[in-house]
Amino acid sequence: MCIVDSNPTCTINGAQAPAPVKAPGGPHRRSSLQTMSLAGLDTTELLGDIETKVEKHFPGALPSQGILDKVSVTIEARGLTPENTLYAQSVCPDEINHEPGDITNLFTEYLGEVFHLGGLGGIPFTGKTGFGAYSHHVPEGGHCFILLAPHIGLDSGCNFGMYDREGQASAGAACGAAIGALGYCKACKPLPDLTTAQDDYQMSYIIHKVHQCKHEILAETTDNAVQARLAHHMHKVATEMLDKIVSLDFGGPESTLTILTGVQINMPEPMEDYFQPLEFYVKEKNGGDTVDLFEQTFGTRSDHQKNNNTWTTYKDDDGTVFVEC
Ligand SMILES: [Zn+2]
Repeated sequence: MCIVDSNPTCTINGAQAPAPVKAPGGPHRRSSLQTMSLAGLDTTELLGDIETKVEKHFPGALPSQGILDKVSVTIEARGLTPENTLYAQSVCPDEINHEPGDITNLFTEYLGEVFHLGGLGGIPFTGKTGFGAYSHHVPEGGHCFILLAPHIGLDSGCNFGMYDREGQASAGAACGAAIGALGYCKACKPLPDLTTAQDDYQMSYIIHKVHQCKHEILAETTDNAVQARLAHHMHKVATEMLDKIVSLDFGGPESTLTILTGVQINMPEPMEDYFQPLEFYVKEKNGGDTVDLFEQTFGTRSDHQKNNNTWTTYKDDDGTVFVEC
């Protein structure tokens, strides 16, 4: 249990994490959690609820710094350094994904520079051209390291899909693109024509992809389970596109492509964001092998992490809700 103000560490999923405080990044709005803490009130129960919700819907999630600490050990043992590796990320452009202390900034600071592959929802919309440009920017004989992370907000009322944004009186949607697409599909609107959607192509694409899985998403029986399922569906959509655009046509004979994917969880202030790792592997040019790095880095996969793209998890059993169009 971690308690703001009185306990320097936060234990979740068996891991010791840094104190749940985001790095300073300018004026922030105060969540109810932060207001309680500043007022000297006991936040134990609220923090406990948050930890329970994260563990239930995103088992294996760790604070951002904890992820970097584990990943850096693995990749440094494989010879990756800031000097020979170029970092890229496919992350939704939402400002709450790019605050000081977020996993995006931690990896950028660790590896030195960042190439952006992502568009709305964290989908690598820059495509083969984007990956081609990125991969040809690596140092001579060097390596690629990609972080792909769709995101989900969590407000101080323990509601997934919501986030207490700075300067706003009430929580708003996060990821707004994914939730907007689900709302569009739930309303049974006609699917946008992708051949004429040049001025809003990314959102139109997401609507199509969410539509393909909307019954499974909406079959979840709690709002939080719906939002978690939606985030994992976005991870599936994003990783499927990533698989199509990457190649080993870069660098030298010893060059490698390392890929870490998962879901970024935007935690309520002042907690550090969390990240649920779902895939971590390296494609080796020399020998053509793909080496799974997940369990040597994060430990044994949870059942959910084993099946993250096949929907076998955490469905409540008190009824289902289907929307028919
Ligand atoms: Zn987003």
